[in-house]
Formats: sequence, structure tokens, C-alpha cells
Amino acid sequence: MNPFTYVRAENSDSAIATVNRESGAMFIAGGTNIMDLMKEGVHTPSQLVDIRKLPASEIVANDDGGVRIGATARNTDVAYNPLIQNNYPVLSEAILAGASAQLRNMATVGGNLMQRTRCSYFHDTDFACNKRQPGSGCAAIEGFNRMHAIFGTSEQCIAANPSDMCVALAALDAVVHTRSANGDRTIPFTDFHLLPGDTPHLETVLEHGEMITAVELPAMPYARRSHYLKVRDRASYAFALTSAAVVLEINDDVIINARIALGGVGTKPWRSQEAEQVLIGATATQETFTAAADAALQGANPRRHNLFKVELAKRTLTEALKIVAAMEGENQWRQL
Ligand code: SF4
Repeated sequence: MNPFTYVRAENSDSAIATVNRESGAMFIAGGTNIMDLMKEGVHTPSQLVDIRKLPASEIVANDDGGVRIGATARNTDVAYNPLIQNNYPVLSEAILAGASAQLRNMATVGGNLMQRTRCSYFHDTDFACNKRQPGSGCAAIEGFNRMHAIFGTSEQCIAANPSDMCVALAALDAVVHTRSANGDRTIPFTDFHLLPGDTPHLETVLEHGEMITAVELPAMPYARRSHYLKVRDRASYAFALTSAAVVLEINDDVIINARIALGGVGTKPWRSQEAEQVLIGATATQETFTAAADAALQGANPRRHNLFKVELAKRTLTEALKIVAAMEGENQWRQL
């Protein structure tokens, strides 16, 4: 492991200033991903700036009915927060479908947004990887690519985004709040992660020294009727082969609103407006769900070993839609 220095930040401004002073400095919070990457020699920071103790872990109800989740809120605390469980069950379920209880107790919301791909070639420095070392090639394209993405890929990188939580956030129209030396900004969640294109080493729109301060969920009363369905190789502690985050508003069997995102298939959390367009205004039937799933998987670009994801993702989304449609329709929006 490369030598590095460690400093615990006193406040957000000093954390940002410290990271800005060194191009090799990084923020660290729960550290559940960074520490692994450092042990593997993938991350070689010159300095870690610990923001874990900053007062940014609260989960508070907004006056408009939405929720603001501090960036250092633990994944476990978000998943079991009564407001999240009641008003945004898809988010609670997505978090609990990810990692292990021990990891969720350490991992933070901001860190979850920043976690790197689990492409095995990215994690093994003996292999070519454009994401780890720009211009070196991509061992996965002609290699074993069963776990890789079928949407948003390029000839430079086909790595899947590993997060479950982010799939739910994409469906919920979340907004990311950040702070940097240039001030505060808000970023729509679906704009936060970048497609690999020719620069797969750039994964988010964040600048060096820009810190996530919170994630905000808009008021969405019909999100009470939502579900996260994940398909994986084993029952726990495994990344998604495919997953679906589904939010539906249904009135007299007619779908009034729909928010759909897919996991395990995209180089970023994959919002499917194609599926939403099929669903909104249609009757909640098996035929509609099948048509929505077909629309969602249009344009998929599978590789040699992950062709199965096309059909599996269709079935995952269809099943999730059936589950949500069968839920009790009365929304009991909870206010603190
Ligand atoms: Fe690297 Fe992306 Fe290729 Fe994996 S898919 S080896 S992360 S460039």
C-alpha cells in the first residue's frame, strides 16, 4: 500500500480546502469501498480527509413533504428510518438488498453514490482497464463479462454500476446537494453519474474537492406504493444480476404515474422512461407490464456472457410491476 496521510475534518469548509490543496487527496466517510480499493492498489490517495464526524447525518422531513438525507447518514439508519420505510419503501428495500448488515452499518449515503464498479478486471491491477488506467484497454470486452452492463456501454468500458440504493434514488427523482470552493449546487440524480464514453475514469459530475452534503427526495405520495426487486446469484451479499425499482400510482386500474429504474444492467443507475411511457395512462394488466418490460430492454447491447440479462431484466421488471400493482392502493403519507 502506498503511504498516505490522514486528517479528520473539523467542518465542511476545512475538509474541502484540505482536499483542494492536493490533487491526490480524497474524502473518506464509511470507507467500505475505499479501503478495499487501497488494499488492491487501485486507489493510491496521498491523503484521506475524514468527513465521518461532520454534522451531516440527519434525516429530516421537509415542509413540502419531501425528505433530506445527510450525506454521512448510515445506510442502515436510512433503511430503518420510519419516514423512509413508510413513504419511500423502494429506497428502504433497495438498501437492505445491498451488501451485508456490517457494511450497511458503516457505509454512508454519499459513499454509496461514489462506490466504484465491481468489474473484476478493474480490481486486478494485472489486467488492462481504461477506468483504472485511461488508455490501457478493457480486458472485459473480450473477457468474462457475465456481470457487466448492457446499457450505456462504450468500446472503452462496459462496467456495471454496482449500487442498489442508487437505482431507487433514480426512480424517486432524487436530487444531490454538493458543496465546493465555488459554492453549493444541486444535481438531479439522473445527471449525477456519467456514461463511460471515451472517459470511463470519470464516473460522476463532481469536481475535485466537491463534497456531497445531502440527498433530497421530493414529495411523492404515490411512492408509498413502490418496491425494489433484486435478482442475484445467492440470497445475500451479492451484487445484482438484474434489479428493478418500481413506483406506481394507480387509480381504478389505470396507471396515473410511473417511475422505473433498473439495476445490474447499466453503466449508471438506469432510469427507464421508455417503460414509463408505456405504463402511464395504460390499464394495469399483465399485457401492459410485458409491453413496458419490452420497451425498457429495447436497445440493450449485451456481450458474449451476459445475453441472459436481457430476458432476466424483462422478467424482473414484469414481476416487480405485478407486485406493486397488487399492493394496497391507499397512500398513507406520513409526516413527522
Ligand atoms: Fe475496466 Fe471498464 Fe473494462 Fe472493467 S469494463 S476492465 S472497469 S474499462
